[in-house]
Order: sequence, then structure tokens, then C-alpha cells
Amino acid sequence: MSTGTSPSGASIRDRVGSAGDVVLKVEDLSVRFASDEGPVNAVQNLSYEARLGRTLAVVGESGSGKSVSSMTLLGLHNPKRTTITGSITLDGTELVGASEETMRGLRSSSVAMVFQDPQSSLHPFFKVGKQIAEAYRAHHHVSAAVANTRAVEMLERVGIPNPARRAKQYPHEFSGGMRQRAMIALGLVNDPKLLVADEPTTALDVTVQAQILDLIKDLQQEFGSAVILITHDLAVVAEVADDILVMYAGRAVEKGLAKHVLSQPNHPYTMGLLESVPSASEEVQELRAIRGAPPSLVYLPSGCSFHPRCDYQDQVPGERCVTELPELRILPNGRQIRCHLVDPERVLSQETSR
Ligand code: SF4
Repeated sequence: MSTGTSPSGASIRDRVGSAGDVVLKVEDLSVRFASDEGPVNAVQNLSYEARLGRTLAVVGESGSGKSVSSMTLLGLHNPKRTTITGSITLDGTELVGASEETMRGLRSSSVAMVFQDPQSSLHPFFKVGKQIAEAYRAHHHVSAAVANTRAVEMLERVGIPNPARRAKQYPHEFSGGMRQRAMIALGLVNDPKLLVADEPTTALDVTVQAQILDLIKDLQQEFGSAVILITHDLAVVAEVADDILVMYAGRAVEKGLAKHVLSQPNHPYTMGLLESVPSASEEVQELRAIRGAPPSLVYLPSGCSFHPRCDYQDQVPGERCVTELPELRILPNGRQIRCHLVDPERVLSQETSR
């Protein structure tokens, strides 16, 4: 699949693969690291896929393991303190146990990351255009002039006005929204197959948030990348996600098509998250926060990790919620749920009748 070339000579779309192809496969991933309090079970037995042309939202509160799992994809963990088991395959390459050299190569060619705070990724001492041009030259044998042209094209593509002038400015001369746009340009300059966006709009005001989400959506269609969007904000998810993975205390608790999970959540935690965000369809609505706080990943509760906060555990016979970890059940249509209370047959019939 290829399109025409831009003035820099770079093709905007020039890669093998079709929408829906699996670009990332995470299988039975567990991540554990040492802390002063003891071993932190940050991620346990996590499996998911990211596909070209689709956005997977990974949702959960702080401490759910959503960011740790994505940092692991990029090899951004401390290898001396972290134990990783399972498998992560990116475009056919196994990342668990891969050398730093392999990871460095993949980080800017096949996968890119957009962080909540672009200041942490844009170097304050270098001009924005130069940083994008250097990232491009790291993977293309082109002159500085061609790379600079490519950088200006990318700044223009992400909606930065007067991109040739802006390319010569430093990050501190950009507003927060413009820095985030520049970060996205930096992430996409090498046309990665996978873009991981970790809370990309959290630090921005509401108007700019909407613009950045629209931009990510547009660019995904243009570049055809797989996008993993990590967020605690279900309003953001409703805007852009095709698929949703809900994490709690390091484990997947619900997964499915966004339209199904958002309209018919089945896990009490997902229900709680949805009840705590305003709905555009209801004029008067009571918002409810989930009581309590997420557990420490060092001292996880017994049984279902959500049981200390769950309003539904009385409906499960016996003490199962307190004593027995619910298994993640995978329904024939791909929906996944980890809760003793949920009847898979009922979920299936709800979704097929819609
Ligand atoms: Fe609540 Fe029990 Fe389901 Fe856990 S398994 S979410 S405690 S009902």
C-alpha cells in the first residue's frame, strides 16, 4: 500500500499491511518490579492485540497497570528491577528479552509514544523542527535539508500554523496544545505501525483536548497505524476508541468493542467508571464516584481485587468474591469479562440482539 510522495520525498503511506492486521500481540504478560515495600505486581496475565487502523483504549484508574504495560512494550522499564514473563510480539519481533539495540530500533521506526507531558519528550535545548528532522534521519539516509523539509511537512500536517517558522522555535515557545501536536508529529515522522498515546490530553483544556483527539483520529485514518490510547477518562474513549480494555489492579477485567462496553458494561468496575462521567444524552444525571481507592499492587486483596469496593458482591453466593479470583471468561464474540456475577449467556444474547 503506497501513495504519492511529498516534497521531502517521503511517502505518507508506504508500508505493507492492511486495516485489521494484528501489529501487536500481547500474551499472558506479567510485570513485577521491586519496591521498598516489596514486589509490585503491576501487570498480571494480560493478553490483547492491537490492529492496524483501529484504536484500542486501555482504561483504568491510577495503579491499574495500564501505563506500566505500555511502557513495557517500549522497553522503558528498569531491567535490573523488573521481571517480565509472557510474550509481546510487535510486527513479528519478540520484545520480551529483546536487546536494547533491538528496542531502540523499534522505538522510533515501528512504534512511537505520545506522553501526557510533551515537555518530557521534547528536548528543551533543541529546536522543534531539528528534533523531528533528526528522528527522521535516524531511520532514513537523507540529507539534512530533506529531513528539515519533512519536519516542516509534519508540523503542517498536525495543524501547526506557519510551520516553517515554528520549526525554528524551541519547545518553550509553543503552547501546551502546540507542544502536544509537535509530539505527535515527532511520533509519526517515521510512519510507525503502532502509536501509543498515554493520557495525551489530560494536561490540556477541554477545547484543545477535543482538537487533539480529532487530530489523532484523522491521522490514524491517514497513516493507518494501530493506536493504543491509555486513559482514565471514558469521555475520551467514547470519542475515539474501536475497542476497550478495562484494567483493574494489574488485570484485565472487561474487554470488547467500544460500542458494546460503553452501552452495556458488564463488570461492576466498568459500570462504576461510566457512572462517574457525565453522559451527553442525559440532561439531569447523578454522577457517582466509585467508593474507596484502588488497592496497593504490593498488597492485593484476596479473591476478586475489586471486592472491597464492589456493591454487587452480596449477589454472589457464598464468599466467592473474597476467596476466589474470577477467571477471565472469553465469549464466542470476543467479549471478555472477569466477574463471578456475570452470566456469559446473557451478555451474548444482549449483544446479538443489538
Ligand atoms: Fe464484584 Fe464479585 Fe464481580 Fe468482583 S467478582 S466484580 S467482587 S461481583
